Amino acid sequence: MTAVIDPQAALDTELLRDNAHLIGGEWVPAASGETIEVLNPANREVLGRVPRGTAEDVDAAVRAAERALPAWRDLNATARAGLLFRWAELIDEHAAVLDQLESRDVGRPHWGPPPMAGQVRFIAGQADKVQGVSLPTYTPDVVGFTLREPYGVVGAIIPWNAPGPMFVTEVAAAIAAGNTIVIKPAEDAPLAPLALARLAMDAGIPAGVVNVVTGYGSEAGAAIPSHPGIRRVGFTGSPVTGATVMEACARNLIPLHLELGGKSPQVVFPDADLSVAAPAIASGITLNTGQICAAGSRVVVLRSVHQEVVERLAQAMERISVGPWHQPVNMGPLINGRQHERVMGYIEAGRSEGADVVVGGGVPRGAEYGDGFFVSPTLFDNVSPDMTIAREEIFGPVLSVIPVDDEAEAIAVANGVDYGLVASVWTEDVGTAVRMSRALQAGQVGINNALGAGVIGGPFGGYKNSGFGRTMGADSVLEWTQVKTVSMRGATRPGN
Ligand code: NAD
Repeated sequence: MTAVIDPQAALDTELLRDNAHLIGGEWVPAASGETIEVLNPANREVLGRVPRGTAEDVDAAVRAAERALPAWRDLNATARAGLLFRWAELIDEHAAVLDQLESRDVGRPHWGPPPMAGQVRFIAGQADKVQGVSLPTYTPDVVGFTLREPYGVVGAIIPWNAPGPMFVTEVAAAIAAGNTIVIKPAEDAPLAPLALARLAMDAGIPAGVVNVVTGYGSEAGAAIPSHPGIRRVGFTGSPVTGATVMEACARNLIPLHLELGGKSPQVVFPDADLSVAAPAIASGITLNTGQICAAGSRVVVLRSVHQEVVERLAQAMERISVGPWHQPVNMGPLINGRQHERVMGYIEAGRSEGADVVVGGGVPRGAEYGDGFFVSPTLFDNVSPDMTIAREEIFGPVLSVIPVDDEAEAIAVANGVDYGLVASVWTEDVGTAVRMSRALQAGQVGINNALGAGVIGGPFGGYKNSGFGRTMGADSVLEWTQVKTVSMRGATRPGN
């Protein structure tokens, strides 16, 4: 929670230009001339306009990326890393503005600068560590080795919930490996990505290496995986859209990674330190208004501590203040009207399927909420694993408590959903922690933490329907490379 800040400040930045996206180093409008309004989710005011890009703009961006590719691919890796380090410096210098832009775009009370510069530095450090291996050969006149090479022009599509971090995660890894990229931010939150792209240019990353096409998913988004010039794709978003993007990649015969949704369990054992667990779980589901793929949305609790956990969670959820992003509150609105309807629909489903509302369950009332897409932090108790709210990703501040009898049932319930992104375990017992770390089907497991926090360079990605491929870790740069085996015979005649 922070002090009140000037809600106009971020809009005055020189980092943004109205109605322009970035193609081949030029800030240009959409080929069609059409625009999309970007709204402040706290009051529906228009924050700005961005181009409504279509397949034509994506095609221009791919061409620009193709022109930039040879020089970027052949630039030595240390020099590429140097430009990424410079980008990170500029991100640090503009941290306050980037933070405000992202807060304004997403409607999130400002967190303090997100760790984007650190992420870019981590990836920059991997650029000159992309290595092949030497291979044994059948005869001594042959040497064998592998080269890791970029795919060429690649594409990425990102969601609106953390647009800046998503942008640097995909762009930094792809270009560190020597690819050039065309990326489409979400139509609801394109401002921080555009500002970050400008800083990449200011850092000296050559024109055409990073191209940003704004627009709707069904137009600019769909044009990326189906463009014949795109050689690999990174997608972060919902499972439904992920499947559509994967189908387009299949038709184009190109690989991709998918970072999709989650229904992350928080497994609470009787020996857990509840004074730490309860506030952390409440904060984990209300941070960014629950619009985090990793959000722990199911509390799987052993019956002997069930009542105490619910009481503590209720106290913690009731303390979460709600309001516009620039006020000193804990939680802002949801991103848009569609998402608001969806979350309210899930709350209704929870009630009608028999779960008990302990906290919230509606929309906060008062003049300060105006036309914003606000919803109250909501705690459901006595949820059974087959209820809709226990199975589907809500992407809102709605927490479901599911009581279980023993560890075996806790594991079965925790793993009994289609998703497998993050799982947390709350216990003081090392044996329990070790067993649970192995048993939980998730790409990340946190012991005594709610969002998999505290690790630098941890690979991030899902099991099951949460996707495949890993971002953020050192291997994320390798994911954007392909392997070539070289066998080289030297002199064929002795003495030459
Ligand atoms: P979404 O799938 O609706 O949109 C994601 C992006 O895809 C947007 O840029 C959108 O414009 C684009 N898109 C939409 N239709 C498209 C199409 N037909 N072809 C190509 N692109 C298209 O998701 P969202 O609502 O923006 O984001 C929320 C979802 O993202 C949640 O499910 C959340 O869990 C997931 N998410 C996952 C991670 C992760 O790392 N695993 C991180 C953040 C968000």
